Parts: sequence; C-alpha cells; structure tokens
Amino acid sequence: MDLVVNNGKVVTPQGVFQANIGIEGEKIATISKSPLKGDEVIDVSGKLVMPGVIDPHVHMELPFGGTVSADDFKTGTIAGAFGGVTTIIDFAIQPKGESPFSAIEARKKAAEGKVVVDFALHASLTDMEKVEDGDIRKIIEMGLPSFKLFMTYRKEGLMVDDGTLFALLQETASLKGLVGVHAENAAVLEYLIAKFLREGKTEPKYHALSRPNFVEGECINRAITLTEEANSSLYIFHMSTKEGLEAVKSAKTRGVKVLAETCPHYLMLTDEKYEENGQLYVMSPPLRKREDNEALWQGVVNGWIDVVSTDHCPFRTDQKAMGDTFDKIPNGVPGIETLLPVMFSEGLKRGMPLERLVEVLSYNPARIFGLENKGAIEVGKDADLVILDPREERTLSYETLHMNLDYSIFEGLKVKGYPVTTISRGEVIVDNNEFYGKEGRGRFIERVSGGW
Ligand SMILES: [Zn+2]
Repeated sequence: MDLVVNNGKVVTPQGVFQANIGIEGEKIATISKSPLKGDEVIDVSGKLVMPGVIDPHVHMELPFGGTVSADDFKTGTIAGAFGGVTTIIDFAIQPKGESPFSAIEARKKAAEGKVVVDFALHASLTDMEKVEDGDIRKIIEMGLPSFKLFMTYRKEGLMVDDGTLFALLQETASLKGLVGVHAENAAVLEYLIAKFLREGKTEPKYHALSRPNFVEGECINRAITLTEEANSSLYIFHMSTKEGLEAVKSAKTRGVKVLAETCPHYLMLTDEKYEENGQLYVMSPPLRKREDNEALWQGVVNGWIDVVSTDHCPFRTDQKAMGDTFDKIPNGVPGIETLLPVMFSEGLKRGMPLERLVEVLSYNPARIFGLENKGAIEVGKDADLVILDPREERTLSYETLHMNLDYSIFEGLKVKGYPVTTISRGEVIVDNNEFYGKEGRGRFIERVSGGW
C-alpha cells in the first residue's frame, strides 16, 4: 500500500465501525479489520475517518454587483481543504447573448491551474435564445448533468421565466438531467425593494424585509408544481424557510422527485444579524427567524433535506461596504472552511447521527450530482478522506481561518471536533494545520446523469 490510515473509526451512511484503510495510488484499495502496512502510515486512533466533504454550491471569483467574490479558485479551495472539503461544484453562468458553451470553457479555464481539490460545474442557463436544439444533451454529455436556473435576479440578467423552467424540466426528464433553482418570487421582491427605497428605507435589514418567507415559499411551491406536471425532478438550492421545507415535505410525500439543500447560515443565524453591520450578512435568500433555523435542522436530521452546502460567495468588509442602499450590497457570505466543523459540532448537539452527517455532506451530493467515484469510503472509490478529531476544540475566527477574508459569519463560535487531516486522491494535502498540496492539482470531474 502507498498510504494507510490505521485504527480510525470509519463513518459511512450505513454505520460507524473501526477499520483500517489502504490506499494504492489515488484509490481506496482495501478496507481491513486488522492494521495495514504501507509506505506511509497514519495512525488515527481516537479519530473519525469520513469521506471528503463535497461542497456542491460555491462561487469562486464570481463577478457580482461591480466586484468579484474574494476567494479565487486557489484561496477558496485551500480554505476548503483545511475544512475537509475534497470536491467543489461551482457554476458556469451563461452570459446573456452568448452560448452556454463559452461560459463552460471559460470557467474551466479559470479553475484549472489554481484549484487544489477536484471540481465540477453546474451549467447555469440565462438566455434560451442562445441554447440550440441538442445543446442540453451536449452539456449533459460533457459531464454537466445539472443545471441552475434563477427564478429571480432580473436586473442582474440572470432570471428566466416559468416557461423556460417548465421547458427545461420537460427536456431533462427524458435526458436524466437535473434542474436546480434559486427560488424567490421576483415580482414581489422587486415591488418591495422599490417600495422601501421610495420610503427612504435603505439599511441592510430591508434586504431581508423585501424578501419575506412567502417570497421563497411561493416560489418553491411553483417550481414543484411545474416539476410535477413535467414529470421531472428538481433540486432546490439554498432553501432558507420553514415554508419551503413544508412544500418539500409535501412533495416528497406525494412521490415528486424533489431534492433540497440548505446552508449552515440558514441553520445557525437569524435576521437579528441585520441590526449591526448587517451588510456582512446580506445574501439571497436572507437570514430568517429562529423557528426557521430549528425547522431546517429537523429537516436535515430527519432526512427531508438532502444536502448541506455553503453557497460560499464571500466579499471582504470593504466590498460589502460598497452598497449605500441595501439593494446594492454584494450578495453572499463565506462558508466553505467552516461547513464540516459547524455541522459536526452543532449537529451533534441536535442529535444528528454521524451517519446522517456524512450523508448530507458527502454521500448525497456525490449521488445526486453524479460524482460516481466520490462521496463514499468503499474499495475502488477515490481516496478522498477527512480525518476529524472529535476532541479538538476551537473558536472560529477569520484570523485563524484560511478564507481570503477579514470577517467570519461564525466569529467566536466554539466548536468541538475539527478536521485535522485531508486526503485528496491518495495525497495528504492538509495535516496538522499545514497545507501540502500543489496549486492546480485539482481536476475537472465529468459527472454522470441520473444518480438521484
Ligand atoms: Zn449560490
């Protein structure tokens, strides 16, 4: 064996068991009851061995609102590696008036040479005039079987109408593609934004007040209705409300193939954050109430929510200060590095079994998005592993985190349990607070369709 990880407690969706893992090259070669011998031996007694975290919702170096998100593909994936992330899925967003293929190539090029973990891309379609017959099939065959449509962001040139969503749902149903949506009712939130601005209500808290819960709830219900009528499947990105969760529960109970994602900030933070330095917490959808946090936690623990991602789209405090009215603040918050520590520590407090943790952070994103060699500790899979010390206590702070930022949304949060070693395709890239990977070592992963 090239590398062995001995005496760990291995966490899988089916159970937690003591085992030793042997790695040959980039793959898991054996899982054994007795300790293994190898060229390099890591003893992880007392620690947990989990599949590397897959963050299927990140925006590295994304142009937004006249600036660019603060982590590029290098800094963002190094920070991710410190947090146990071994694969990211970013977005190739079609610019209006251009073909989707140029965006895919451009995004690949931006990442290649910089990413330190493996990456894949969702195809985000914004202009169906420039999508020709057969293009959807071609995109799926290029290894991008998942799409993202924005049901809002009209001014930003990203929004598509319901007819476009319905047509894509129909087309992907036969091609086994997966449509994902950013679900917020555009007309209502545009009306409320204009109304608040007219009334001189410009502070960050009006960002949240212009996007109340029903703006998301209505839109998720609408997207589910269209999905059901198209006999297709749907992925809901960054769900933030109890109303959204109720819609998902009801759809799943009826047998509709709807999959839901939430993020740690929707589980942990409330709209009280908008009272002071509120711009730092402006993201869409916005932060909600404690009762939404708790409902979403229950959804994660009980299996109604399939994936926890980060929507990592960070801006430094000077970038966040650019907007003099709430509608001009760059949208997005950091999260890739704190995903696993926060979900582990806070999940345990809420009775989330470890099996469920690896399901929402690794196994489900791999299955849903067709990362067939990732997301599980099984012979033949990529040796993407994270070793977590359940005794390690830390206080989260931007000063010690590695994201390219001067604040953290979880500043001061005490966590117990922290990733200490990250292995990506058989290579130790983070160990004991040091990064050992090489810039650009990450690869573009062509994904397969129909896995959910
Ligand atoms: Zn996003």
